[in-house]
Order: sequence, then C-alpha cells, then structure tokens
Amino acid sequence: MKMTILTGKSVFGGIAIGRLSFYKRGQGTIQRRHVEDTARESQRFEEARQQAIRELKGLYDKALQEVGEANAAIFEIHQMMLDDLDYRESVSNIIETQKVNAEYAVGTTADNFAQMFSSMDDAYMQGRAADVKDVSDRVLRILSGGSDEGQTLTEPCIIAADDLVPSETVQLDKSRVLAFATMYGSANSHTAILARTMGIPAVIGLGERLDPSMDGVTAVVDGFEGRVILDPDAETLAVMQNRQEQEQKRRELLLSLRGKETVTKDGRMVNLYANIGNVSDLGAALQNDAGGIGLFRSEFLYLENEDYPTEEEQFQVYKTAAMNMAGKKVIIRTLDIGADKQAPYFELPKEENPAMGMRAIRICLTRPQVFKTQLRALYRASAFGQIAIMFPMITSLKEVRAIRGIAEGVKSELKAEGIPFQEDVELGIMIETPAAVMVSPELAREVDFFSVGTNDLTQYTLAVDRQNSSLEEFFDPRHPAVLRMLRMTAEAAHQAGIWVGICGELAADLELTEEFLRMGIDELSVSPGMILPLRQKIRELDLSDPR
Ligand code: PEP
Ligand code: MG
Repeated sequence: MKMTILTGKSVFGGIAIGRLSFYKRGQGTIQRRHVEDTARESQRFEEARQQAIRELKGLYDKALQEVGEANAAIFEIHQMMLDDLDYRESVSNIIETQKVNAEYAVGTTADNFAQMFSSMDDAYMQGRAADVKDVSDRVLRILSGGSDEGQTLTEPCIIAADDLVPSETVQLDKSRVLAFATMYGSANSHTAILARTMGIPAVIGLGERLDPSMDGVTAVVDGFEGRVILDPDAETLAVMQNRQEQEQKRRELLLSLRGKETVTKDGRMVNLYANIGNVSDLGAALQNDAGGIGLFRSEFLYLENEDYPTEEEQFQVYKTAAMNMAGKKVIIRTLDIGADKQAPYFELPKEENPAMGMRAIRICLTRPQVFKTQLRALYRASAFGQIAIMFPMITSLKEVRAIRGIAEGVKSELKAEGIPFQEDVELGIMIETPAAVMVSPELAREVDFFSVGTNDLTQYTLAVDRQNSSLEEFFDPRHPAVLRMLRMTAEAAHQAGIWVGICGELAADLELTEEFLRMGIDELSVSPGMILPLRQKIRELDLSDPR
C-alpha cells in the first residue's frame, strides 16, 4: 500500500512506530434454536453466568495490580451487571416464553439493554451500553465452549481496533503495546483513560479508513498531531524517528527536574500541585513530583457509583489520598455534580440551563445530609495527612457562612463521638463565577484560600457554554476580562492575607505563567503531565527584570 495518513483525536501525546496488530475477537453469529427442555437452557445460562463472574473476579485482581483500584472497578460493575435481577429475568423469560436456546436469549437481552442505555441522556449511562455487551459476549463465549485467553502479542506492536472495551484492554500484555489506534471511541472511554494512565500514545476516532486489511502494516502513531501514518515512506519515517528521539530526550530532561524546587531565578517559590480525578491518579502526581494535590475532583467518586457513596467508602478514598501524599497538601473539592456531570441516583430534575442550574454547592446546601456525609468523611481523613477542603461554584458570602455552619456542626458531632480529626483543616473556595470575583474582598475574610476555576469563570464571564464544541472559537480563557478578574482575585486574597491559586486548565498555559506570577498567584494546579514543563518554565523566569 502507499503511504496513507489518517486523522483522529489524540488522547495521549508521544510517538510510536511499529506494526499494526488488529485486535482479534471471537466473532460468531448467534443462532436461534427452538428447544423443548427450557429448564436445561436456563441451567446452561446459570452455569455460564457463574463462570463469567469467576473470570471477572480474576480480571479484577489483574487490573488491580496493573492499573489500580479505580480503573479495576469496572470489572466489579461487570460482575454486578451479571447479578442484576432484571438482566437475569430477561434471559430466563426469553428462554421460557419463546422456547429458545440460551445463546439467543442472552444476545437479545444484551441488545435490548444496550439500546436502553444508549437512549439515555446521561453520558455515563450511555457508556454502560458497551459494558452490557461486553459481559454478555463473555457469557456467550462460555456457552459456546471458547476460552478466555484474549490476544497474545509476540512482539511490541500498535494495537488497532474498532474500539476496545475494558476487559479487552486489561488483558493485553502492556509491555508489548506501543500505542493504541481506534476507529471509534471517546476521550473519556476506558481505553483513553488507560492510555493516559500508562503514558502510551493513543489516537482514537480514526474512522473506518482504518480497517483490518491493514493488519501487519508498519505505522506511526503521532499522539501529538492526532494522526496515524500507515506505511510511511523512508523520508517520513526518518522525520518521525527523529521526533521520537527528541521527545525521548525532552522527557529525560524533564525528569531531571524531579526533586528540584519550583522557584524563579529571583527566588520566588511557587506551589506546583496536581489535579486528579481519583486515587489512581496519585501515582502520576507523585511520579511527576507534584508538591501536593491542588484539586481532587471528588465528584468522580459519585459518578462511578450506582448510589451515594457511603461515609465509610469516601473516608477510605480520602484517607488513601492523604496517606499517599505523605504530609503534602491534598485539596479535596466537595462534590461538583450537576450540569455536564450527572449521577442518575441524585434524581435531579431536567433543566433548561443546567450550567446555571442546580449544581455543585447548591445541591450540597439544599441536601445537607449528602453534604454532611462528605464532610464527615473528609474531616475523618484529615487525621491521616494534610487535607484541605474546597467548595465549588460559590457566588455569595451567605453560602460561605452556611457552609461554615455545617462544617462546624460536623466537627462538633465528631468530637462528641470521640472520632479523631484535624481541628484547623484549611477551608477554601473556588472562584469561578464573576459574582465571587466581585465580592472577593469580603469572601477572603471568611476563608483560608482561593483557587480560581478558569474553566467555569471563562464560561460565565464570556457567556459561552464550555460544553458546546461549535463555540470553541469564542471560548477564550485568555480574554482580558478573565485575566483582569484573576488579578482582582489575587489582590483581594493578598489584602486579606490568604493565598490564591489557579486550578482551571489555564493554569498550565506556559505563555501566561509569567503574568500569573507577576499577579502574585501563589499556587498552580495542573494535570500531572504538565507539572515538570511548568517547573521548567518557572525556573527560567526572572521577575526582577522589569517587563
Ligand atoms: C474550573 O471550573 O475551572 C474547574 C477547575 O473545575 P471543573 O473544570 O471541574 O468545573
Ligand atoms: Mg468548575
């Protein structure tokens, strides 16, 4: 074939060069057979289901070791799906009423459930469609007597696929995966998350031009440009090899910054922290030498669950974070659910303008029981490290006072119960609404720190929906209005003697680093992979130079 370039969406940077290996999975069509002995078919289904659960337990253990608890959790969800009464009843009913074989009943149930999930409004639930197919395929394979070996890779290669489901991804021999390239998939899929966690270049959404006839072809996955070059000519190959080497050198150079201080040439120290979504990201934060966690988006804990996480479950997670960071600051944001982040069990009413609706702190203040459970877990975890608590979507002094009242109540309860906690846990707020900026001098007197959420601050300041991809050209976090608000916030904080940071995506904008430091920003919190590049940038700055 002649050189072909496919473009898609990058979910992780880096360059990989190698052979494409198309992911092979057992494909059999399901036959509908009439049966008389329906009891026997139900029994076959039951046995296959039990074996599938045993296999999933094994996969969970494997995933736990390789990618951590949060990523392994998907296999627990899979087990729960197979235990689900609706699912089991659907299969038995089809066998009984239609007098058909177990395979057909499982296949039909899987289709129905997948369709039901796909038609839901919620992106998380839509994602479950792939999961129900995945677990059903496992049962089908067992029913047909197949084995569960997955794909064996004999040499390091680029894994190509239509899309990969979690059970397929986790079974791959990671030491032999150079990169991922898929036809479909979203940036939030488990394959994408896994690629990021493993630091493997990945490009998704390449479309149907990527097809299985390309198996074995030499390819370059360019995770920087979001493209895959198939059968590169000698010149292109040389260019890409060169870039790969440079990238390797750059990475080594950055790694040499580990353990170094984040300080400008003229001696200004900056706190450089990591943003994380769950405890499995702690490894990346530590590997990149984060000085602490500047934003732990605790809502993921709620999004991953089918019901409210209990106080004990939350406590375990926050305690793990506190202990892993070993005395470094861990700023946990209370749940910021609503708008684009929906958990069905909250049963939030449908809204015309969800971004301006019942979300984040508004939910906490109207459902104090949910809020108190989280605060109890956070305070309990404070006995195991340096926890700080941060509240999202603040607009007024009244909210902050209400929050403080609830927090004091929680502390009194814990004291009365004799449960240990840190008395002086820092309480901070996110500055992510124009209102909060305007009243920041008053707010600063009530809290211990500010952290500016530039993602929402941009959305609310410019009146541009951050979710609407057709408005991307209007979504400008560098807009002078946003930068002026940042300056106002920093001034208000320092006047009241508290520290101020940025945890929105803008914090990682290297072209603004100098401006942020000149404004007096004390802390920058960014995704783990941006910590060392930012440290490098800060160490090159000299603020004593007049601009
Ligand atoms: C922000 O709004 O900038 C922020 C950090 O929070 P999130 O992106 O989770 O809304
Ligand atoms: Mg926000």
